[in-house]
Amino acid sequence: MVHHHTSDTLSYYIKQKTGIAVERCYQCGKCSAGCPAAKAMDLTPSVILRLLQTENPQNDRKVLQSYTIWLCLSCHTCITRCPMEVDLPVVMDYLRNESLTQNLIHPKAKDIVAFHKSFINSIKRFGKLWEVGLIAEYKLRTRHFLQDVFIAPLMVMRGKLSFIPPKRSSKTNDKSSTKGGNQ
Ligand code: SF4
Ligand code: SF4
Repeated sequence: MVHHHTSDTLSYYIKQKTGIAVERCYQCGKCSAGCPAAKAMDLTPSVILRLLQTENPQNDRKVLQSYTIWLCLSCHTCITRCPMEVDLPVVMDYLRNESLTQNLIHPKAKDIVAFHKSFINSIKRFGKLWEVGLIAEYKLRTRHFLQDVFIAPLMVMRGKLSFIPPKRSSKTNDKSSTKGGNQ
């Protein structure tokens, strides 16, 4: 049976953008049972899919405001267990982007979002990850100035962190100059 999505719902856009049909999920719960992050989540992965299947705007909002989407580790345990091959990591990725765009980020996830942004900015600026720059930006964004303060000097002494940013290759310079600034 062909399922017709109501347009302007998350399940409709997920189908359009990723090709994943959330209605394939028949709620067996195997994904949630195997998910290593499920205990910390506010909605289990199968409940996320159930809410999306209802195509109800309030449920869509609940999904975008959930903590779950930020806790997904993209570990792929769920998809390997799923009898219907529903690609939950890709769905979660789409939902994170949408949550950011609509500014519906769960309050507890603000630090995770700050870490994501700092990580991406480090790659944009230097063409690769510069840990000290990443930590500095993350701390500025979150104001967690004293967190890990005792670990960082040890890591510098052991040569694990460098205060000198990596040199950019001309290739990465060219690329980022066409992509615009940081967020
Ligand atoms: S990919 Fe995400 S939802 Fe799936 S098992 Fe891993 S953490 Fe859980
Ligand atoms: S394992 Fe697959 S079919 Fe079962 S609940 Fe999870 S997504 Fe749905």
